[in-house]
Amino acid sequence: SKDKGGGVFHAYEPQLHVRAEERRVLEMALRKALEKNEMHLAYQPVVDADSGRLTGFEALLRWESPEFGNVSPAKFIPLAEEARLIGPIGEWVMRTACLEAARWPDDIRVAVNVSPDQLQNPGFVTTVTSALAGSGLSAGRLELEVTESVFMHEGLGAIKTLERVLDLGIRLSLDDFGTGYSSLGYLSRTRFSSIKIDRSFVQAAAKGVREAVAIISAVVALAKSLGMATTAEGVETEAEHRMIQDFGCTKVQGYYFGRPLPVEEARELANRRMQA
Ligand code: C2E
Ligand code: CA
Ligand code: CA
Ligand code: CA
Repeated sequence: SKDKGGGVFHAYEPQLHVRAEERRVLEMALRKALEKNEMHLAYQPVVDADSGRLTGFEALLRWESPEFGNVSPAKFIPLAEEARLIGPIGEWVMRTACLEAARWPDDIRVAVNVSPDQLQNPGFVTTVTSALAGSGLSAGRLELEVTESVFMHEGLGAIKTLERVLDLGIRLSLDDFGTGYSSLGYLSRTRFSSIKIDRSFVQAAAKGVREAVAIISAVVALAKSLGMATTAEGVETEAEHRMIQDFGCTKVQGYYFGRPLPVEEARELANRRMQA
Protein backbone atom coordinates (compact mmCIF):
# COMPACT_ATOMS: atom_id res chain seq x y z
CA SER A 1 0.00 0.00 0.00
CA LYS A 2 0.98 3.61 -0.23
CA ASP A 3 1.93 3.64 3.43
CA LYS A 4 4.65 1.05 3.34
CA GLY A 5 7.88 1.94 5.06
CA GLY A 6 11.40 1.48 3.80
CA GLY A 7 12.41 -1.58 5.84
CA VAL A 8 14.96 -4.12 4.70
CA PHE A 9 12.34 -6.65 3.65
CA HIS A 10 10.73 -4.17 1.36
CA ALA A 11 13.38 -4.65 -1.21
CA TYR A 12 11.48 -7.77 -2.27
CA GLU A 13 8.33 -5.90 -3.16
CA PRO A 14 8.90 -3.56 -6.10
CA GLN A 15 7.49 -0.08 -5.65
CA LEU A 16 4.81 0.50 -8.20
CA HIS A 17 5.03 3.95 -9.65
CA VAL A 18 2.33 4.82 -12.09
CA ARG A 19 3.16 7.78 -14.28
CA ALA A 20 0.78 10.73 -14.26
CA GLU A 21 -0.60 10.22 -17.75
CA GLU A 22 -1.01 6.46 -17.42
CA ARG A 23 -2.64 7.11 -14.11
CA ARG A 24 -5.21 9.51 -15.50
CA VAL A 25 -6.21 7.06 -18.21
CA LEU A 26 -6.29 4.10 -15.82
CA GLU A 27 -8.36 6.11 -13.37
CA MET A 28 -10.98 6.89 -16.02
CA ALA A 29 -11.26 3.21 -16.89
CA LEU A 30 -11.38 2.28 -13.20
CA ARG A 31 -14.33 4.61 -12.66
CA LYS A 32 -16.38 2.53 -15.07
CA ALA A 33 -14.96 -0.91 -14.28
CA LEU A 34 -17.69 -1.97 -11.84
CA GLU A 35 -20.68 -0.94 -13.93
CA LYS A 36 -19.05 -2.55 -16.95
CA ASN A 37 -18.74 -5.82 -15.05
CA GLU A 38 -14.98 -5.97 -15.44
CA MET A 39 -14.28 -6.98 -11.86
CA HIS A 40 -14.50 -10.30 -10.11
CA LEU A 41 -13.09 -11.98 -7.04
CA ALA A 42 -10.53 -14.78 -6.97
CA TYR A 43 -10.30 -16.95 -3.86
CA GLN A 44 -7.02 -18.22 -2.45
CA PRO A 45 -7.12 -21.25 -0.13
CA VAL A 46 -6.07 -20.77 3.50
CA VAL A 47 -5.16 -24.03 5.23
CA ASP A 48 -4.37 -25.28 8.71
CA ALA A 49 -0.56 -25.42 8.98
CA ASP A 50 -0.37 -28.84 10.64
CA SER A 51 -3.20 -30.81 9.05
CA GLY A 52 -3.33 -29.05 5.69
CA ARG A 53 -7.11 -28.86 6.14
CA LEU A 54 -8.86 -26.06 4.24
CA THR A 55 -10.17 -23.44 6.65
CA GLY A 56 -11.21 -20.71 4.24
CA PHE A 57 -10.34 -18.45 1.34
CA GLU A 58 -9.02 -14.93 0.97
CA ALA A 59 -10.99 -12.88 -1.55
CA LEU A 60 -8.67 -11.08 -3.97
CA LEU A 61 -9.99 -8.50 -6.37
CA ARG A 62 -9.36 -8.91 -10.10
CA TRP A 63 -9.82 -6.33 -12.83
CA GLU A 64 -9.89 -7.51 -16.43
CA SER A 65 -9.87 -4.37 -18.48
CA PRO A 66 -10.56 -4.66 -22.22
CA GLU A 67 -8.15 -1.76 -22.65
CA PHE A 68 -5.33 -2.66 -20.25
CA GLY A 69 -5.69 -6.39 -19.76
CA ASN A 70 -5.39 -7.84 -16.26
CA VAL A 71 -4.36 -4.99 -14.01
CA SER A 72 -2.71 -5.99 -10.73
CA PRO A 73 -4.54 -4.94 -7.56
CA ALA A 74 -1.16 -3.81 -6.25
CA LYS A 75 -1.47 -1.14 -8.94
CA PHE A 76 -5.16 -0.29 -9.11
CA ILE A 77 -6.05 -0.46 -5.39
CA PRO A 78 -3.71 2.43 -4.49
CA LEU A 79 -5.13 4.30 -7.48
CA ALA A 80 -8.69 3.61 -6.32
CA GLU A 81 -7.74 4.90 -2.88
CA GLU A 82 -6.32 8.12 -4.29
CA ALA A 83 -9.24 8.65 -6.66
CA ARG A 84 -11.73 8.03 -3.83
CA LEU A 85 -13.16 5.04 -5.65
CA ILE A 86 -12.28 2.54 -2.95
CA GLY A 87 -15.62 3.17 -1.17
CA PRO A 88 -17.89 1.77 -3.91
CA ILE A 89 -15.33 -0.84 -5.01
CA GLY A 90 -14.82 -2.01 -1.43
CA GLU A 91 -18.56 -2.20 -0.89
CA TRP A 92 -18.95 -4.32 -4.03
CA VAL A 93 -16.15 -6.61 -2.80
CA MET A 94 -17.86 -7.00 0.58
CA ARG A 95 -21.27 -7.85 -0.89
CA THR A 96 -19.89 -10.19 -3.54
CA ALA A 97 -17.60 -12.06 -1.15
CA CYS A 98 -20.45 -12.58 1.36
CA LEU A 99 -22.87 -13.74 -1.36
CA GLU A 100 -20.36 -16.18 -2.82
CA ALA A 101 -19.11 -17.51 0.52
CA ALA A 102 -22.66 -18.13 1.71
CA ARG A 103 -22.78 -20.99 -0.82
CA TRP A 104 -19.74 -22.77 0.65
CA PRO A 105 -19.84 -25.36 3.44
CA ASP A 106 -20.60 -23.87 6.87
CA ASP A 107 -17.13 -24.15 8.35
CA ILE A 108 -15.34 -22.40 5.48
CA ARG A 109 -14.53 -18.74 6.11
CA VAL A 110 -13.94 -15.84 3.79
CA ALA A 111 -11.37 -13.10 4.38
CA VAL A 112 -11.94 -9.68 2.80
CA ASN A 113 -9.27 -6.99 2.47
CA VAL A 114 -10.33 -3.59 3.76
CA SER A 115 -8.58 -0.30 2.98
CA PRO A 116 -8.04 2.28 5.74
CA ASP A 117 -10.20 4.76 3.80
CA GLN A 118 -13.18 2.41 4.02
CA LEU A 119 -12.94 2.44 7.81
CA GLN A 120 -12.91 6.23 7.80
CA ASN A 121 -16.47 6.10 6.56
CA PRO A 122 -18.97 5.53 9.42
CA GLY A 123 -21.26 3.90 6.82
CA PHE A 124 -18.85 0.96 6.70
CA VAL A 125 -20.66 -0.76 9.60
CA THR A 126 -23.95 -0.62 7.64
CA THR A 127 -22.19 -1.99 4.56
CA VAL A 128 -20.99 -5.02 6.53
CA THR A 129 -24.32 -5.54 8.31
CA SER A 130 -26.29 -5.43 5.08
CA ALA A 131 -23.77 -7.61 3.19
CA LEU A 132 -24.23 -10.24 5.91
CA ALA A 133 -28.01 -9.88 6.02
CA GLY A 134 -28.34 -9.86 2.24
CA SER A 135 -26.28 -13.02 1.82
CA GLY A 136 -27.27 -15.01 4.88
CA LEU A 137 -23.58 -15.49 5.73
CA SER A 138 -23.08 -15.73 9.49
CA ALA A 139 -20.80 -13.06 10.96
CA GLY A 140 -18.49 -15.74 12.36
CA ARG A 141 -17.55 -16.79 8.83
CA LEU A 142 -16.41 -13.33 7.78
CA GLU A 143 -12.91 -12.12 8.47
CA LEU A 144 -11.64 -8.65 7.65
CA GLU A 145 -7.98 -8.01 6.85
CA VAL A 146 -6.56 -4.62 7.72
CA THR A 147 -2.98 -3.37 7.65
CA GLU A 148 -1.03 -1.45 10.24
CA SER A 149 -1.53 1.74 8.26
CA VAL A 150 -5.06 1.89 9.72
CA PHE A 151 -3.51 2.80 13.05
CA MET A 152 -1.01 5.26 11.68
CA HIS A 153 -3.16 7.76 9.84
CA GLU A 154 -6.80 7.24 10.45
CA GLY A 155 -6.90 7.96 14.14
CA LEU A 156 -9.73 7.02 16.41
CA GLY A 157 -12.44 7.05 13.74
CA ALA A 158 -11.16 3.88 12.11
CA ILE A 159 -10.63 2.15 15.44
CA LYS A 160 -14.19 2.96 16.54
CA THR A 161 -15.50 1.53 13.27
CA LEU A 162 -13.43 -1.61 13.83
CA GLU A 163 -14.83 -1.99 17.34
CA ARG A 164 -18.35 -1.78 15.97
CA VAL A 165 -17.80 -4.43 13.31
CA LEU A 166 -16.08 -6.66 15.85
CA ASP A 167 -19.21 -6.43 17.99
CA LEU A 168 -21.09 -8.04 15.09
CA GLY A 169 -19.02 -11.18 15.69
CA ILE A 170 -16.73 -10.99 12.68
CA ARG A 171 -13.01 -11.70 12.93
CA LEU A 172 -10.17 -9.33 12.30
CA SER A 173 -6.70 -10.08 10.94
CA LEU A 174 -3.66 -7.87 10.86
CA ASP A 175 -2.34 -8.12 7.30
CA ASP A 176 1.24 -7.71 6.08
CA PHE A 177 2.50 -7.55 9.64
CA GLY A 178 5.91 -5.95 9.98
CA THR A 179 6.00 -4.16 6.64
CA GLY A 180 4.54 -0.86 7.83
CA TYR A 181 5.46 1.48 10.63
CA SER A 182 4.93 -0.99 13.40
CA SER A 183 3.87 -0.16 16.86
CA LEU A 184 2.92 -2.98 19.16
CA GLY A 185 0.52 -0.96 21.28
CA TYR A 186 -2.49 -1.44 19.07
CA LEU A 187 -2.03 -5.22 19.10
CA SER A 188 -3.16 -5.29 22.71
CA ARG A 189 -5.86 -2.67 22.24
CA THR A 190 -7.61 -4.21 19.23
CA ARG A 191 -9.24 -7.63 19.18
CA PHE A 192 -7.30 -9.30 16.38
CA SER A 193 -7.92 -13.01 15.85
CA SER A 194 -4.77 -13.42 13.84
CA ILE A 195 -1.62 -11.84 12.50
CA LYS A 196 -0.62 -12.45 8.91
CA ILE A 197 3.12 -12.72 8.37
CA ASP A 198 4.08 -11.07 5.11
CA ARG A 199 5.52 -13.12 2.27
CA SER A 200 8.75 -11.09 2.34
CA PHE A 201 9.62 -12.55 5.78
CA VAL A 202 8.69 -16.08 4.76
CA GLN A 203 10.81 -15.87 1.61
CA ALA A 204 13.76 -14.31 3.43
CA ALA A 205 13.63 -16.88 6.26
CA ALA A 206 13.55 -19.68 3.69
CA LYS A 207 16.78 -18.26 2.24
CA GLY A 208 18.31 -18.38 5.69
CA VAL A 209 18.24 -14.63 6.44
CA ARG A 210 18.73 -14.67 10.23
CA GLU A 211 16.83 -11.47 10.91
CA ALA A 212 13.76 -12.85 9.14
CA VAL A 213 13.97 -16.06 11.15
CA ALA A 214 14.23 -14.06 14.37
CA ILE A 215 11.28 -11.86 13.41
CA ILE A 216 8.98 -14.76 12.52
CA SER A 217 9.83 -16.58 15.78
CA ALA A 218 9.17 -13.42 17.75
CA VAL A 219 5.86 -12.71 15.98
CA VAL A 220 4.64 -16.28 16.55
CA ALA A 221 5.58 -16.09 20.25
CA LEU A 222 3.96 -12.67 20.61
CA ALA A 223 0.76 -13.79 18.90
CA LYS A 224 0.58 -16.90 21.08
CA SER A 225 0.98 -14.90 24.25
CA LEU A 226 -1.79 -12.55 23.13
CA GLY A 227 -4.05 -15.49 22.22
CA MET A 228 -3.90 -14.78 18.50
CA ALA A 229 -3.31 -17.11 15.56
CA THR A 230 -0.64 -16.58 12.90
CA THR A 231 -0.97 -17.06 9.15
CA ALA A 232 2.16 -17.33 7.02
CA GLU A 233 1.70 -15.85 3.55
CA GLY A 234 3.46 -16.69 0.33
CA VAL A 235 4.44 -20.29 1.06
CA GLU A 236 5.55 -21.63 -2.32
CA THR A 237 7.40 -24.88 -1.60
CA GLU A 238 7.21 -27.95 0.57
CA ALA A 239 10.41 -26.88 2.33
CA GLU A 240 8.84 -23.53 3.18
CA HIS A 241 5.77 -25.30 4.51
CA ARG A 242 7.94 -27.47 6.79
CA MET A 243 9.81 -24.38 7.98
CA ILE A 244 6.48 -22.67 8.78
CA GLN A 245 5.29 -25.74 10.71
CA ASP A 246 8.52 -25.64 12.73
CA PHE A 247 7.87 -22.00 13.57
CA GLY A 248 4.48 -23.05 14.93
CA CYS A 249 2.31 -20.88 12.67
CA THR A 250 -1.40 -21.70 12.83
CA LYS A 251 -2.35 -21.29 9.18
CA VAL A 252 -0.66 -21.06 5.79
CA GLN A 253 -1.44 -19.55 2.46
CA GLY A 254 0.56 -19.57 -0.75
CA TYR A 255 1.01 -21.01 -4.21
CA TYR A 256 2.13 -24.33 -2.69
CA PHE A 257 -1.44 -24.83 -1.42
CA GLY A 258 -3.23 -23.04 -4.18
CA ARG A 259 -3.31 -19.94 -6.32
CA PRO A 260 -6.28 -17.59 -6.18
CA LEU A 261 -9.13 -19.54 -7.86
CA PRO A 262 -12.26 -18.60 -9.78
CA VAL A 263 -15.32 -18.80 -7.52
CA GLU A 264 -16.64 -22.07 -9.01
CA GLU A 265 -13.32 -23.80 -8.44
CA ALA A 266 -13.11 -22.51 -4.88
CA ARG A 267 -16.57 -23.91 -4.20
CA GLU A 268 -15.65 -27.27 -5.74
CA LEU A 269 -12.51 -27.45 -3.63
CA ALA A 270 -14.50 -26.73 -0.46
CA ASN A 271 -17.09 -29.39 -1.37
CA ARG A 272 -14.49 -32.02 -2.30
CA ARG A 273 -12.84 -31.49 1.03
CA MET A 274 -16.20 -32.16 2.71
CA GLN A 275 -16.40 -35.59 1.09
CA ALA A 276 -12.79 -36.52 1.84
P1 C2E B 1 -2.38 -9.16 0.15
O1 C2E B 1 -3.63 -8.87 0.90
O2 C2E B 1 -1.13 -9.28 0.95
O3 C2E B 1 -2.69 -10.48 -0.68
C1 C2E B 1 -1.74 -11.50 -0.91
C2 C2E B 1 -1.12 -11.34 -2.28
O4 C2E B 1 -0.07 -12.30 -2.44
C3 C2E B 1 -2.09 -11.62 -3.41
O5 C2E B 1 -1.69 -10.80 -4.51
C4 C2E B 1 -1.80 -13.08 -3.73
O6 C2E B 1 -2.19 -13.46 -5.04
C5 C2E B 1 -0.32 -13.11 -3.56
N1 C2E B 1 0.19 -14.45 -3.23
C6 C2E B 1 -0.43 -15.41 -2.53
N2 C2E B 1 0.35 -16.50 -2.40
C7 C2E B 1 1.51 -16.22 -3.02
C8 C2E B 1 2.73 -16.95 -3.22
O7 C2E B 1 2.90 -18.10 -2.79
N3 C2E B 1 3.71 -16.31 -3.92
C9 C2E B 1 3.57 -15.05 -4.41
N4 C2E B 1 4.58 -14.52 -5.09
N5 C2E B 1 2.43 -14.33 -4.22
C10 C2E B 1 1.42 -14.91 -3.54
P2 C2E B 1 -2.75 -9.97 -5.36
O8 C2E B 1 -3.98 -10.77 -5.53
O9 C2E B 1 -2.02 -9.48 -6.56
O10 C2E B 1 -3.11 -8.76 -4.41
C11 C2E B 1 -2.16 -7.79 -4.09
C12 C2E B 1 -2.65 -6.88 -2.99
O11 C2E B 1 -3.76 -6.09 -3.46
C13 C2E B 1 -3.18 -7.62 -1.78
O12 C2E B 1 -2.11 -8.04 -0.98
C14 C2E B 1 -4.02 -6.53 -1.14
O13 C2E B 1 -3.21 -5.63 -0.43
C15 C2E B 1 -4.58 -5.82 -2.36
N6 C2E B 1 -5.96 -6.30 -2.61
C16 C2E B 1 -6.37 -7.36 -3.34
N7 C2E B 1 -7.73 -7.44 -3.34
C17 C2E B 1 -8.18 -6.41 -2.57
C18 C2E B 1 -9.48 -5.95 -2.18
O14 C2E B 1 -10.53 -6.53 -2.49
N8 C2E B 1 -9.52 -4.82 -1.40
C19 C2E B 1 -8.38 -4.18 -1.00
N9 C2E B 1 -8.52 -3.07 -0.23
N10 C2E B 1 -7.16 -4.59 -1.33
C20 C2E B 1 -7.05 -5.69 -2.12
CA1 CA C 1 -4.70 -9.70 2.58
CA1 CA D 1 -0.86 -9.91 3.10
CA1 CA E 1 1.41 -8.08 0.80
